[in-house]
This record gives sequence, structure tokens and C-alpha cells, in this order.
Amino acid sequence: MAVPVSQAWTVATYVLKQKLMGRKKYPLVLMLEPLFRCNLACAGCGKIQYPAHILKAELSPEDCFKAVEECGTPMVSIPGGEPLLHPQMPEIVAGLVARKKYVYMCTNALLLKEKLHLFKPSKYLSFSVHVDGQREHHDFSVCREGGYDIAMEGVRAAVAAGFRVTTNTTLFDGADPNSVRAHFDEMMTAGVESMMVSPGYTYDKAPDQNHFLGKAKSRRMFRAILSNRKKEWQFNTHPLFSEFLMGKQNFECTPWGMPTFSIFGWQKPCYLLQDGYADTFQELLDSTKWENYGAKSGNPQCANCMVHSGHEASAVDYNFGSLKGFLTTAKRYMFASLYPDEGAQKLLNEWRPEHTSPLIQIQAPVGTTKTELQSISGD
Ligand code: SF4
Repeated sequence: MAVPVSQAWTVATYVLKQKLMGRKKYPLVLMLEPLFRCNLACAGCGKIQYPAHILKAELSPEDCFKAVEECGTPMVSIPGGEPLLHPQMPEIVAGLVARKKYVYMCTNALLLKEKLHLFKPSKYLSFSVHVDGQREHHDFSVCREGGYDIAMEGVRAAVAAGFRVTTNTTLFDGADPNSVRAHFDEMMTAGVESMMVSPGYTYDKAPDQNHFLGKAKSRRMFRAILSNRKKEWQFNTHPLFSEFLMGKQNFECTPWGMPTFSIFGWQKPCYLLQDGYADTFQELLDSTKWENYGAKSGNPQCANCMVHSGHEASAVDYNFGSLKGFLTTAKRYMFASLYPDEGAQKLLNEWRPEHTSPLIQIQAPVGTTKTELQSISGD
């Protein structure tokens, strides 16, 4: 099972309640960003280019609990930045677990092994470890040689200590589907509970603007990766979101489904774009011009976006929004398909890995002193 039954039940009853209350726009997962600073500087990241004083700022546990209570989602994802650099992260996680929220702490796992003792295993807590592929691909993606080995040490230590461990993998242009599939094998062998995979997004601020995927390329790549699956592979994304990536379903974005709260407030309209901030979740819902976002809107910023944070909630909403959606999803769960596809196999056989450039390391923000840089990265 990709997620515990209790989690699936909690989410299903929550969504049904929203439907019965007639709520058209309801949040599903809170993206809680308690800080932006990180101990990596990945080329595709749009979060770590802030000036030093912003990178040093962080949400307090009380800010986090207030945001969670305001929007009421059953699940909380904690990206960043690197959450393990937040000195009060154990307190934040314990507070969320006490509130019976299913927490996915997204970490690059560089500090996981050494900080593991600060957390308690719980069915409510998963370490969602950022691993972008096999060793060479991951190190290239995070611009740090040796990053993969440290992350996997963290994964193994957390699994051995009884924690739920999942992985999240972001794919950019140039990813090799055969290698991604080998990566899935490695993660399952390492004992992770389940995996999540999503295309990257073209952040305006990201230093590497040349390796983001267009929609047609994304669908082709995900068809190659996710068809002809091995039965051992477990994914924690909704099956219809996975079909969306493979070009078998078409969903519009529901940006309110995974709202983002950070040191700036509630981000409009989604995790990826920054068209202003609201002070409260209700203000976010009421004051955002939602019709300006999503592929149908014609907004060029949304044209190529297929990311998990915009579209998985759409799949869940479809699941509960009609009899057809419910029956389709029920069928996927009861008779899990391995998606046999000869064309996809041919794609895999003929795929030639692209040559990748040497590792690049992002510059520190302009004006950052050496001491500031050390205090930002936690080194
Ligand atoms: S399509 Fe992507 S960028 Fe546009 S609102 Fe949705 S999640 Fe954000």
C-alpha cells in the first residue's frame, strides 16, 4: 500500500465532507515553507535566490500551527529551503502530529542521519527525501558531488529507525527514463514506502533556464518512465495524476488545492508563482483572480506547467466529483495496472541519454559575506 489505510481514509472523508458542504475551492495539502535557506544550491530551484536577510528569516511554530488551523487540510507538506536547518523543526513536526496532520517533511537528507533522534516515528510523519535519480543524475541536479550518498545514508538510517520514508523526484529535460526506472528499483530496495515523481517548473529566478520540460516532451518522457511498471514500484501520488503525466488524462490546474504559506504570508496563486500575498487563507481564496491561472487561462507562466502541486489536487477532485471519476479511480486501486505499452517500451529501447554539462554551483546572493553564507547553509 502506497499510503497507510488510515491516511487514505482521512483524506477521502475530508474531501467528501468538502463536497457535501458544496465547497468548490477547498485545500487538500498545505505547502508550509518555514524557511527558504538551504544547504544545497540546486540549479532548478526558485527558492534560494533571496537576499541573505530573507534566507535567515523563519516561521515560528505558532505561525505554522495557525496556518494549519486556518486552512484545515488533512495533509501538510513542509518544503523549503531545507526544513532540517530550522532549529525548531522537531517542535513544529511534533505539534502537527499532535493535531493528527499527515506530515511530509521534504528534505535533501544531508542532515537527516544526524538529526533523526530529534523526531519520533509516527504514522503521521514521513520524511519525503529529495532524490532526483541515480547517483550521477542526483549529484548533477543538486549541484553537489557526493550528495546522493549522504542522502541515501539518511534514507537507510530513517528506514532502520522505523520512520516512514518516501522520495520525491523532480525531472528536467535531459533526464534518462531508463536511469529513472533503475532509480525506482534502487529506492524500493532501500526500503522506501513509496515514491513521487513530477516534472520541474521554469522558475524565473532559477539560474538554469535551459532544462525545463515542455508539455509534449513531459508526456513522452513520463509515458516511457511510468508505462510497463514493475509491480514492486509504489507511488504515493494519485493514480490519475500519474496518468495525467503520461498523457492519458487531462486536468486543469487547481492552484487552491495546495496553498503555500511562508514568511511572506499566503502566496498567490500557487507554490510556483508569486503574484502577491494574502494575510489570511480566506483572503487568499477571496482576492486571487483564479481565472488568470491554469493552461486554459492563456497565462504563459502556466502554459507548460504539469507540476504535482498544481494538478494532483485536480485528480483527487475529479475522483470525488462525479460517478465516472469515482468508478475510474476505484478501478485503478482495485485492479492496479502496470500500464503495458509497446510504444513506450520502444521509446525506452531507443532513448539515448543526453550528454550533461559539468556540475554547476550557484553563486551566493550578491553581497553575501563568507560568514553569512556559512550561517545560511548551516555548514
Ligand atoms: S498551472 Fe502551474 S504555475 Fe499555473 S497556477 Fe497552476 S501550478 Fe501555478
